[in-house]
Amino acid sequence: MIKRKIVLLGATGSIGTQALEVVRAHPNRFEMQVLTAATNAELLIQQALEFRPQAVVITDEGKYAEVKAALTGTSIEVLAGSAALEEVVQYDGVGLVISALVGSAGLRPTIAAIKAGKDIALANKETLVVGGQLVMELVSKHGVNLLPVDSEHSAIFQCLVGESNNPIERVYLTASGGPFRGKDRAYLASVSHEQALCHPNWVMGAKITIDSATLMNKGLEVIEAKWLFGLEARQIDVVVHPQSAVHSLVQFEDGSIKAQLGPADMRLPIQYALTYPNRVGNNFKRFNFADFPSLTFEQPDTDTFRNLALAYRALELGGNVPCILNAANEEVVAAFLKGGVGFLQMSDIIEETMATVGHIAKPSLDDYLRTDRESRAIAKALVIKNKTYII
Ligand code: NDP
Ligand code: MG
Repeated sequence: MIKRKIVLLGATGSIGTQALEVVRAHPNRFEMQVLTAATNAELLIQQALEFRPQAVVITDEGKYAEVKAALTGTSIEVLAGSAALEEVVQYDGVGLVISALVGSAGLRPTIAAIKAGKDIALANKETLVVGGQLVMELVSKHGVNLLPVDSEHSAIFQCLVGESNNPIERVYLTASGGPFRGKDRAYLASVSHEQALCHPNWVMGAKITIDSATLMNKGLEVIEAKWLFGLEARQIDVVVHPQSAVHSLVQFEDGSIKAQLGPADMRLPIQYALTYPNRVGNNFKRFNFADFPSLTFEQPDTDTFRNLALAYRALELGGNVPCILNAANEEVVAAFLKGGVGFLQMSDIIEETMATVGHIAKPSLDDYLRTDRESRAIAKALVIKNKTYII
């Protein structure tokens, strides 16, 4: 069997390390061509010595010397800086790029990979939130596969197998509700980032864990679903399902609904993206019905968790507004993780940033990058103003 060569953007993260577990489980199918990290040189070096890729990238240039020294004497090329991400995705022989960076940093390398005709397994939902219109135009122009890794979108994608002639009436994205499901605004006013980081069902990177607690993650996923499946906002519903057993559902024109279930284990959607259209055996833990005597479904509380409503508003407004939402969100989450802003203020700052930055109906890549910079600057200033106010 010819091995598929993989570029893994974000190898040291939660998705990245689980993608490597999938590769480890199927040594005859895959081969790592490139591994990348931002600052975690130690883990990147360890991964490089195990998987022996053609190249590694450390985007933090200050860590280059450490990685280079550790890999001297091997044939592994060491590159540094963010621009290198756009180079390595274009290497000859690349069979798949796994986009598992966090945040809008994923946009440029993902676009570079699509333009080079490479298939993409997409975990980095922010890429579609920020530049969905542009990205999907490029996917179609260059004829590449864009395979979802996000569990909800993988579920929908799996439900759509064999349904190419059947239009989707509606999709239901399931949400666990996060650690603060059922809480009111009075409670949320004083929650800490430590509390928000305790997700009931999934172990993930810090940013997405906070996004899950605020329901922004589901908001970003609504926008991601719009682009992946060509839907209107009114066709995308969110349903809170605390057991995280049903990963999402698709309703067709006849009213029939297909759902995909499985253990809350990201290795499954990662593996499906890597082996699509085939399914391949593994020894991952199986779903046990005894663990789920009942599955429950409820409406999300968007008055309390305002980020979900803000994401729908951004989707309706379109253009660069989802990019503004995303950039402001990245800034407030970073501030919340440092204790610089309260849980409820995050939505206020995102909303104010959306009202301040100029709207552009059909942005170019440069417009997106400018919007991202401008929105971050405004959100940062609002965080500082808000902090001064709290003191
Ligand atoms: P992590 O924070 O765990 O990992 C992010 C990875 O990207 C790390 O390798 C990190 O390097 C690297 N990185 C971070 N910032 C930059 C940057 N500015 N430039 C280049 N590289 C960078 O995130 P997750 O793995 O949790 O999430 C990755 C993406 O997948 C996100 O978009 C998330 O929403 C999505 N996702 C995640 C799920 C999960 O279960 N974790 C589930 C579904 C979707 P370093 O380690 O050196 O900092
Ligand atoms: Mg998800």
